[in-house]
Amino acid sequence: MSARIDHTTTSGTFSLDGETHEVDNNVWVVGDDHECVVIDAPHDVDRILAVVGDRRVKAILCTHAHDDHVRVAPKLRHETQAPIFLHPHDHPVWELTHPTELWDVDLADGQIIEVAGTRLRALHTPGHAPGAVCFHAEELGCVFTGDTLFNGGPGATGRSFSDHDTIVESIRTKLFTLPEDTVVHTGHGDDTTVGAEKAALG
Ligand SMILES: [Zn+2]
Repeated sequence: MSARIDHTTTSGTFSLDGETHEVDNNVWVVGDDHECVVIDAPHDVDRILAVVGDRRVKAILCTHAHDDHVRVAPKLRHETQAPIFLHPHDHPVWELTHPTELWDVDLADGQIIEVAGTRLRALHTPGHAPGAVCFHAEELGCVFTGDTLFNGGPGATGRSFSDHDTIVESIRTKLFTLPEDTVVHTGHGDDTTVGAEKAALG
């Protein structure tokens, strides 16, 4: 049984710095018929559980702690008994949404998460958020970038806890060094590839 990628989107809001925006978020589920990991837990736990089905959730992997990516992470943990993984540099962002709860496992650069016979490698890519992480699935030929890299370029860096030069450095050193045909599954919007974004950013 080989690993596959399932996907849904949820709709809701993103709030930071006193502003609230309507957003659609991607949720990525990597696994087989027996087990899976969930990448990001925005807005709506029922929609996520519909994709999971009766599979065991091994981990809830957070690309970063903006509220539109982690809002239902504790609820999903409660429903599935799966641990929440987050890079500790996003603690100040996490506590804006979940002041009385913590995640379970600190993510570190290079960390390997195994699921359904395949591996995800965590890439610490600060910039959009200090604890932003991408997950490279080499055997599946793809990378899950959260809000670090979109179809159309780097993620936003205009708000608190973010930095433009840092995100560009992260993208150049951690993402543009992956094979050019690597499919980029983003936190919002359409897929792209490493090669296409490399050509666009120059
Ligand atoms: Zn974000």
